[in-house]
Amino acid sequence: MTLRDGERVHLIDHKGRVYALSLRAGKTYQHSGQTIPHDRIIGVEDGSNVVLSGGAKFVVLRPTLAEYIMKMPRGAQVIYPKDLATILLWADIYPGATVVEAGIGSGALTMTLLRAVGETGRVVSYEIRDDFAERALENIAMYLGKVGHHVLHRQDIALGIEEHDVDRLVLDLPEPWRVVPEAVRALRTGGIFLSYLPTVPQVVKVVEVLQGSGAFGLIETFETFQRPWNIEGRSVRPALRMVAHTAFLTVARKLVTPVAMEPELDG
Ligand code: SAH
Repeated sequence: MTLRDGERVHLIDHKGRVYALSLRAGKTYQHSGQTIPHDRIIGVEDGSNVVLSGGAKFVVLRPTLAEYIMKMPRGAQVIYPKDLATILLWADIYPGATVVEAGIGSGALTMTLLRAVGETGRVVSYEIRDDFAERALENIAMYLGKVGHHVLHRQDIALGIEEHDVDRLVLDLPEPWRVVPEAVRALRTGGIFLSYLPTVPQVVKVVEVLQGSGAFGLIETFETFQRPWNIEGRSVRPALRMVAHTAFLTVARKLVTPVAMEPELDG
């Protein structure tokens, strides 16, 4: 599919460095003193080579969601793609689901959820900061265009979840234990609570509150690592650097009558 006026694209140089731009007919892109008219990029195939005025070559691509998230303007720190991918399966986000999330931050998780629930589903975001909310809505519109299945409430989620029969609740905020009473009311039975927390004291607190709520079972906590590898001729080894820590995921199921039950961790 050819690249269109108005869309966001990435230019990638021979070293794999990525530069983002929004295509606008009549404009000129500049990079290290070299230029290319946007009109020379508009209309080419996704994945084409383009050459700047001084001879620099770039591959031009429509970014994947993960690539877009790593390059989009950020207000708050985003959830990294390795964790977004994990959240989709561990919170079991499915087409048609009603998903509530907080806070919206920069919108990375929101976009991931919106794509996964599809237009038959619904994503409801809660956010306390207007500046983050505005930035997130712009980021979402730039990548997904106009979406009809997203709702934003500008309020503290712990003070009330307006929705009920919620299928999944995903929390990326510092004090998710404050939201547990509302989660108990809003989630349907069989529904899933997932929190994303950077530190161990936070994880302990949320797990204790979930355990004490009398509504949740199958509570599990884990983290994921993505270790990139270098594969070049005989140099086949892990890359020298990696993102060593992002956050811990805690997942719990809302049950009719919770009993003390440990999830099977291995296998
Ligand atoms: N998941 C987002 C990043 C969220 S950063 C992303 O992937 O882009 C955490 C956000 O939670 C911040 O925007 C913060 O303002 C918001 N927040 C913190 N406490 C909150 C609360 N009690 N209710 C709603 N939003 C809250």
